[in-house]
Amino acid sequence: MSTNSFESSKRKISQACQYLAGGVSSNFRLGISPTPLVIHSGSGPYLIDADGNRLIDYYLGMGPMILGHNPQRVIDAAKAQLDRGILFAGQTEVEFEAARLVCELVPCAERVRFGSSGTEVIQAALRLARAATGRQTIVKFEGHYHGWLDNVLWSVSPTAEMCGPADNPAKVRGTPGQDPGSADHLDVLVWNDLSAVEQRLARGDVAAVIMEPAMCNTSAIPPRAGYLEGVRAACSKTGTILIFDEVITGFRLSAGGAQKLFGVTPDLATFGKAIANGFPVAALAGRANLMEQFVSARVMHGGTYNAHPVNMAATVATLQELADSDVYSHIERRGRQLMEGVGEILRRYSIPARVQGFPGIFHVALGVTKPIESFRDTFGIDRSRYVRFTTALIERGVRALERGAWFLSREHDETVIERTLEIVEAAVKAIA
Ligand code: PMP
Repeated sequence: MSTNSFESSKRKISQACQYLAGGVSSNFRLGISPTPLVIHSGSGPYLIDADGNRLIDYYLGMGPMILGHNPQRVIDAAKAQLDRGILFAGQTEVEFEAARLVCELVPCAERVRFGSSGTEVIQAALRLARAATGRQTIVKFEGHYHGWLDNVLWSVSPTAEMCGPADNPAKVRGTPGQDPGSADHLDVLVWNDLSAVEQRLARGDVAAVIMEPAMCNTSAIPPRAGYLEGVRAACSKTGTILIFDEVITGFRLSAGGAQKLFGVTPDLATFGKAIANGFPVAALAGRANLMEQFVSARVMHGGTYNAHPVNMAATVATLQELADSDVYSHIERRGRQLMEGVGEILRRYSIPARVQGFPGIFHVALGVTKPIESFRDTFGIDRSRYVRFTTALIERGVRALERGAWFLSREHDETVIERTLEIVEAAVKAIA
């Protein structure tokens, strides 16, 4: 199997560094082996990079591209809206239709508001929870990511040495320059431990609990049986708002997100990524009596680009496609085939590994074999060997995230999965 060259990407990134800090516009795109890529185009499950390599893509824009790159219905809808104008600071029919579709598909969604990024709608959710309860404290969980702002960028990926005892985790800052006071009203707990939540909420001073309902930023971890139900009950009992951050799981684990899949309805939920197949759209959805506080109590929520008409047209097309078609049964079949195939190859080459999660987003970890059930179970993962693996993969034509997550789209058909598994086997041989 011949291997790809990335010289053109390398050269262009180093030239761009004269103008663009680090040659990238997000820190998540820095330091990738063998180089951050320069992409020419995308189509279906494939990307073409600046060197002309055709790569089977499992980044999928970090999750959004559930219909694959360039789905015709979404492109056509966005183009048609673009011909009618760009931005109006007024309402549009496509915005109303997008809101109606979210409310139809998502169990907790009685009302919705749109924004442009997951990070910002999460801020709106926290503000609404504080306004509604008159309480200040927010509870979040180790390893869960809720955007890059100061007040939530705590204990997202702390080291074993820094994270403190499991029954009283330390709050570990996420970046230099972060306001230390931004954690004053934040408590961090370990996830998937019901009694930890019950004990904390019993004090009666928590405005909201925010979590990824399946933990997809570190590994891909389902909630333990009864955990979400238990947290739901503890929140209801103590008047605490339950927020599911469904920026990854929304419209990916099912058309109704993790809340539909697991049958537990939060008070508020945040969405992004797959909601518009790559257009910058996010949504806050939830119970009418909470969401109406944006109106009745004038809880502030703004944004020049909120419900941008072109993005709303893309949202409507994406959600119609997700509601009408067999996207999820396709992803279920092909995702399982890939998870099982990758696991089988790693076993055959005697590489200790754990493949777990969901067909639409799963996680491959090297160096551990036991089920990963919470953030602290990830400390044993051999990350440097995994980077050797993803480097060997991309050299042979498969692009998978260095942190171990694999995203699937409708466009990853049987042929693509079979080709992926051939490349996985070659890459595993290379690191065995
Ligand atoms: N929440 C979760 C669970 C996420 O995975 C992300 C992004 N990866 C965000 C929030 C932030 O979303 P955005 O990057 O659109 O601001």
